[in-house]
This record gives sequence, structure tokens and C-alpha cells, in this order.
Amino acid sequence: MKKIYLDNAATTPVDPEVFEAMKPYFMERFGNASTPYSWGQEARKAVGQAREQVAKALGAKPKEIIFTSCATESINLAHKGLAEAILRQWEKEKRGEIPHLVTSSVEHKAVLESCQHLEKQGYKVTYLPVDKRGLVNAKDAKKAIRPETALVSIMYVNNETGTTEPIEEIDKLIKKINVSRLTSHLSPIYFHTDATQAVQYLDCNVDKLGVDLLSLSGHKIYAPKGIGALYIRKGTPIVRQQDGGGQEYKLRAGTENVPYIVALGKAIELVTRNRRQVTRKLTRLKDRLSKGVLKIPGVELKGHPKKCAPHIASFIVDSAEGETMLLLLSDKGIAASSGSACTSGLLKPSHVLTAMGIPPEKAHGSLRFSLGKDNTQEEIDYVIKVLPGVIKRLRRMAPKLNPIP
Ligand code: PLP
Repeated sequence: MKKIYLDNAATTPVDPEVFEAMKPYFMERFGNASTPYSWGQEARKAVGQAREQVAKALGAKPKEIIFTSCATESINLAHKGLAEAILRQWEKEKRGEIPHLVTSSVEHKAVLESCQHLEKQGYKVTYLPVDKRGLVNAKDAKKAIRPETALVSIMYVNNETGTTEPIEEIDKLIKKINVSRLTSHLSPIYFHTDATQAVQYLDCNVDKLGVDLLSLSGHKIYAPKGIGALYIRKGTPIVRQQDGGGQEYKLRAGTENVPYIVALGKAIELVTRNRRQVTRKLTRLKDRLSKGVLKIPGVELKGHPKKCAPHIASFIVDSAEGETMLLLLSDKGIAASSGSACTSGLLKPSHVLTAMGIPPEKAHGSLRFSLGKDNTQEEIDYVIKVLPGVIKRLRRMAPKLNPIP
């Protein structure tokens, strides 16, 4: 049976070139990057080179890149580290206020739960609404900003829908407010973006985006699971959240994971180099897939038709339950994803879809295909061929749910 992997937003395989680059750092060059002898120097040099590769891909300086274990950790460090730094500063100034954060209601759990943690600590958070395609409106961000707003955190590409958020527009708004804050002695607003689903396909130059903090992950860009990075613009206040040694410019303690850091450096170099060509290929494949899938009665597009990353095609299938759809697709050799998360045995509709105004009963029919650089037209055509039968079977299995013939 054919096996077709269309869940690249969940994770990607390690690129053979990436694997080759990281391999020597397990056995031959296994040194601890903090030690002074040649093994250590070799490891340190490799970490430095990877830092330069990540910095180059983001248009940043190497000193502004911190290696972490994943995007979740980067996001937590950005949010909690900045909130704590600003609070300490305000306490010193006897300002008597608690920093306020602005984020959106469609962020990944890593962002939402980190914000919820801060709320429990007494910080204030505003969750911006989105429209029916999952887009944040910069005007809503403007309305939400208060004198004590210290951080705005908006994702670049949504992992469930592929919708791209207006990062540059929000940056312009923040810059304008920050100029007026200079004269009123208020601290500036810092801007974070979760670019986990963006770095492969969109230009993530930090100056172009105007962000002070940017989180990314290795396993979405053909590096292994367990490595991430956080870009921190020079001068952005951060209190480290993991205490111990002085690694990563004293911002993230713990012995550096040299092979994985090397892998992330190589992976980001490769995705940046091949971005234009892969984007062109995936745009074509995604269009073909969407056209084919949307011919099935009772199926609609979920994400934004234009403002969308090239690798995510997401749909709502009427009268079909997402998790079962995945199992039936798996029987046909196809790996896809549904927005539903199985919590304590109950299928809970995705917070992203409910935030987009999709009623829970409809949200259960969520289906996401996420493409990768190695997918082919034949694979897409196979999905288009088998999906109608899978949906028909599902609807037959749940006739009461099923108003569609
Ligand atoms: N943010 C987004 C948009 C994601 O898609 C993911 C993973 O799916 C994460 C954050 C978390 O990434 P990691 O697995 O590296 O912690």
C-alpha cells in the first residue's frame, strides 16, 4: 500500500543533509561546548556556526539567537522572561502596575497556556478575536493596547488553518505607539511572533517583520525533534526561566545539545536556500489538492484563501467526524490531521475553529493536510481519488448526523 505523509505541520522527517551534518557530533566530536580543551573548542565552534546560520536566516546578529529545546520553550521564555523583566523594572521604579500582554485567541497552546500561567501570577492578558478566516484585525490590537501593555504576541502562520497574520501591520502600529511613549516616559511595547509554521516558507527577516522576539522549532523544518531557537533583539529585557550554568548568554542554562544545534543551523540554511522553489511547488500542489477536495459536496475551506502559507490546506467536512476520518484515511495509507484534540476521552473542538465562529458540531469535521517538500503530484492525486469514498463511508456510518446525500 502507498504511504503518503501529509502531516508536515505536525512534524517533518530529518533531511539527509541535516542528518549528515549532525552525525559527527554524537561520537567523534562529542565534547561539551563549555570545556577549554580541543573537544570543547570543536563543539563550541559548531554551536557558533549554527548560531550564525540561524541569525543569517532571520537577518539577525548571532548574539541575538538563543538555542532552546523547542518552540514551546522559546515561547515560554519570551513571554515569561519579558513579563518578569518588565515587572522587576516597574517595581524598581515603584510604578505600582502589572504588565499587560496582548495575544490572539487562535495561537498555539504553547502561547495560550504560557499567557494563562502569567494570568494566574497576576499579569493581565487580552485575547484578540479573529474573523471567520482566522485573521486578527490590527484595529482590534490597537483598541486592546493600554498604557501598561508590555508585550504583543501574535503568531505568523496558524498551524491549523495556515492563515498568515498581519505581522508587519501590527508592527507599524506598535512602532507608532512606541514613538509616542518616548515622550510620556512609558516603557515600549515589545513584539513577539511564533514563527514555528512560517520559517520554511515566509521571509522571517526580523527587521522586515519588526519583531523583538521570534520563536521557531527544528522539527518543522527537517531537523530533529528537541531543538528550537528564540531570537531576542538586542536590548530586549528578558529574565531567564531556567537557572544553572551560564550557557546561551546566561539566558538558558544547560549543556548545549551540540548535534541538534548543528542540525537546526543546517536545516534553516537549507529551507532558506530552497524556499522559493519549494514554495512554488507546494503552492501548485496545494491548489490542486484544494480544487479536488472542494469538489466533494459539503466540504469547505477553513483558512484564508489568499493570506495563507503554501503548505497547509484545511477544510471543514460536513457531517463527518474528524478523528474517524483520520483513521479511515490511515487505512488508505494517508497521514493527515484534524483540529480536534482528544481530552479525557472526549473530543473537544479546536479552540482555533471555535474562535473563528465555527459551531462545535461543525468543527468536529475538521481536516488538515499539511504538505512537505517531498510530496508529489501523484500523492495528491491519490488523496483526491480516495477521499470522496472515505467521506461517503463516514456519512453512511453516521446517518443521523448526515443531511448530505
Ligand atoms: N507553535 C506552533 C504554531 C506550532 O505549530 C507548534 C507545534 O505544532 C508549536 C508552537 C510548538 O512547537 P514545539 O513542538 O517545537 O514545541
